[in-house]
Amino acid sequence: MKFNLNAIVRPNILSLAPYQCARDDFEGEASIYLDANENPYNSGLNRYPDPYQVDLKRQIGQLKGVSTDQIFLGNGSDEAIDLLYRIFCCPGKDNYISISPSYGMYDVCGKVNDIERREALLTTDFNIHIPRIKELWDQYTKLIFLCSPNNPTGNTLKREDIIELCQSFHGIVVVDEAYIDFAKTPSFSEEIAHYPNLVVLQTFSKAWGLAGIRLGMAMAQAEVISLLNKVKYPYNVNVLTQKKALDILMYEADRVKQQIAEIIQEREKLSEALISIEQVEKVYPTEANFILVKIKDANHCYQQLLKDGTVVRNRTKVILCDDCLRITVGTPAENKVFIDQLRIIAP
Ligand SMILES: *Cc1c(COP(=O)(O)O)cnc(C)c1O
Repeated sequence: MKFNLNAIVRPNILSLAPYQCARDDFEGEASIYLDANENPYNSGLNRYPDPYQVDLKRQIGQLKGVSTDQIFLGNGSDEAIDLLYRIFCCPGKDNYISISPSYGMYDVCGKVNDIERREALLTTDFNIHIPRIKELWDQYTKLIFLCSPNNPTGNTLKREDIIELCQSFHGIVVVDEAYIDFAKTPSFSEEIAHYPNLVVLQTFSKAWGLAGIRLGMAMAQAEVISLLNKVKYPYNVNVLTQKKALDILMYEADRVKQQIAEIIQEREKLSEALISIEQVEKVYPTEANFILVKIKDANHCYQQLLKDGTVVRNRTKVILCDDCLRITVGTPAENKVFIDQLRIIAP
């Protein structure tokens, strides 16, 4: 299948001339800036941020083994999800495919943009069923959203399945890797050179411990990234966020790595502790920083945990997740308290 990017971009986006920032006209360092109507008195925040986050992307590029023009940064990876709809899907006409169960934002964003959803139910062991997905797409299908490790199930999707979709689909294959730093499986960012229709999403919100600064990224070939750049708000990542992320990447990467290792270790301990609880019917295998657990009387357990001051995610109403709670791995002390509480609730 020969992929043709321009053929799947919305015509209004293809012909769009992006907003020209003051700093787009000028490159380099000047001694006096009278071009952007900023307050001239230096507060550290009186200037607009770099619209293309060059320093930050250089650092991320080194870490991920991609070039700066293969990276888009946004206000959380949610921004990239929304932009992908707006770039590729004509409201009321085009459609997208997302797996089920998976992350809720694909569908909220799809609805906001008035794009038809085609739902690809996962198998009972939470894998994708390729023939089922191929039956769903038609010429109006522009995006397929995959999530690996998947939220809320925790498993990674099979590598060969994702590759098969990249090779056979005429539109964009999005692989959301919000939890990839907790996984044994390598990232699909390694594959973007091979697949012009592959977009890999990652975020600073989970493993990097920076949910509060709102920073997410999309990695893809430069042609796709330039579309994202064209449609985004000019200054979509603020100065404080850019500085903080750069700081952590440059000076605290080792601490973060250590934390990730500890969280993975705790995850394994927590899984074993959960299995030992009689009411627990299944602890699903996970490569993320959370565990999906099937438990008798899940709603009751959820409510009792709340009364004890512990909030977990109730997934009992989610398709294929009957009687399931999703437990985020906490600190060793938090996990211990949680397990003690659960033992009393569900002996
Ligand atoms: C948490 C999460 C994200 C993160 O979104 P941000 O906007 O970057 O905070 C993305 N995808 C999935 C599947 C998630 O679970």
